[in-house]
Amino acid sequence: MTDTRVAIVTGAARGIGAATAVRLAREGFAVAVCDLDEAACAGTVGTIADEGGTALAVGVDVADTARANAAVARVAAELGPPVVLVNNAGITRDNLLFKMSDDDWDSVMSVHLRGSFVMTRAAQEHMTKAGWGRIVNLSSVSALGNRGQANYSAAKAGLQGFTKTLAIELGRFGVTANAIAPGFIATEMTAATAARVGVDFEDFKAAAAKEIPVRRVGVPEDIAGTVAFLVSDDASFVSGQVIYVAGGPRA
Ligand code: NAP
Repeated sequence: MTDTRVAIVTGAARGIGAATAVRLAREGFAVAVCDLDEAACAGTVGTIADEGGTALAVGVDVADTARANAAVARVAAELGPPVVLVNNAGITRDNLLFKMSDDDWDSVMSVHLRGSFVMTRAAQEHMTKAGWGRIVNLSSVSALGNRGQANYSAAKAGLQGFTKTLAIELGRFGVTANAIAPGFIATEMTAATAARVGVDFEDFKAAAAKEIPVRRVGVPEDIAGTVAFLVSDDASFVSGQVIYVAGGPRA
């Protein structure tokens, strides 16, 4: 076991999670690359290894308490006690309220809210023991309300309250908790949204960019850079905050 700090990033097989895992490895963390399918983590782990970093692929459904606990225990045994947790795993099940099924609602709550809760409960034990820790939860601008996303916006708003409570409870142990609320980030998630509404992804991004003050959509590295700051020692006095990373102001 070395002095290298260990970070867990969920949903890290692709998109924002993959970029975050790669960035944290560049910052010197040993990174547990967690996703539903362990084999799907190979790309992210390979990128980190090619750059000389340390990474471990971990298959876990974050919404499953037993698997989440086992994943955190495995990371602690194989990489070292995790002191950074990025709750990034997410899904969408968009529909207008009158067409939204119970399953659409429950699935989204399970992954975002229950998943973040059980992963955090398991990981905080290591952070409080170490007297240092960083938790970053992925919220969204959708927390402010978004047509067709009653489930997702409720979950993302819920994560903001969860984050603030973590900050209050864990601050005395040297653990900070913050949320990042991304705007439009070009990933498979937003590509799937474009496909669902029948718009070419390039056109979809161009239309979105017109509404964004900096006149571009985001890329996963925009979020990874914000995570890198929040988990750094420089951010030790930043806790319980929601940082909108959206190319412009949000309420
Ligand atoms: P993405 O490309 O869809 O990647 C999400 C990853 O999470 C996938 O690899 C997915 O695995 C994994 N995942 C889903 N359910 C899981 C579970 N139960 N356990 C473990 N892993 C699971 O999404 P993204 O765009 O990078 O988004 C990442 C996070 O940022 C999400 O929380 C999302 O809500 C949030 N966000 C994204 C945007 C955006 O514009 N893209 C904006 C605001 C917030 P599978 O491939 O196997 O499903």
